Amino acid sequence: MTDMRLIGIDIGGTHFRIGMVCDGQTVIRFQKAPTKNVLRSDDVLADIARFIVDYAGDTSFDAVVIGFPATLDRSRKKVLQAPNLEWMENLPVVEELGARLGVHVLAERDVILALYYDIAKYHLPADGVICGIYFGTGIGNAIMIGGEPLLGKNGVAGEIGHIPAMGSRVLCGCGNEGCVENLAAGKYLVHLQNTRYPKTPVEALFTEHGNEEALREFVDRMAAVVAAEINILDPDHMLIGGGVTNMADFPRDQLQERIVARTRKPYPAQDLHIIYAEDEPDKSVAGAAVYAKLRG
Ligand SMILES: [Zn+2]
Repeated sequence: MTDMRLIGIDIGGTHFRIGMVCDGQTVIRFQKAPTKNVLRSDDVLADIARFIVDYAGDTSFDAVVIGFPATLDRSRKKVLQAPNLEWMENLPVVEELGARLGVHVLAERDVILALYYDIAKYHLPADGVICGIYFGTGIGNAIMIGGEPLLGKNGVAGEIGHIPAMGSRVLCGCGNEGCVENLAAGKYLVHLQNTRYPKTPVEALFTEHGNEEALREFVDRMAAVVAAEINILDPDHMLIGGGVTNMADFPRDQLQERIVARTRKPYPAQDLHIIYAEDEPDKSVAGAAVYAKLRG
């Protein structure tokens, strides 16, 4: 599909990101639109179709790849569940949007598209086990085994953000109590800022308070999440990314030290290959192109 003209869309909690890829890798005409400007009627698929057609203008396109911050069914035909984004649940996006646009539509979890992009960017070989954990508002997780994303029986493998933190009763957006992403991702930093550091902007928390116990414990919980995945899968490569690890003065050394401390000895602890991935606004859009090239 390298000669195809592809539109990639990354649907986030607050924004739609869209771009076109013509040569199989470079995103052009990258744009970002508030979700409320895209979804203006009761017909979500009609709104998304109009958004794509308006974006493309006179330029024809052959396929659309959409990344969702959600679980998808195993066939990748429809969205299952998205915390706090009920409008996208049970959306038959592939068939109905494909019919409306008259082109091939592919849907995938946004973190899988991001991992495809990072594997290409960091020139990682496709064989073996590659894990991506992205600490954003929540925790995104994708697992690639032998060049194929691990889907699981129902299509929902790789949800490490929803493993339980024993003792926590915090209600998660998924409906369960005590999921670790409420304690080890951006939403916890917002909670810390609100309750303990009201005078510090969230983005300056590590700069101003990184050595304090609350933030050191937070980083240790992030390490526990990464170590859990490493201890189960013994990956060849572990990618760690997302907005949190790319914040100013984020203590990567401390995270690394705590990951090593919490992984099994002597292996995998002595043979970890951890890559800290940059946060790029068009990552999932570019990942859509890599995905289409390899899987379309
Ligand atoms: Zn949860």
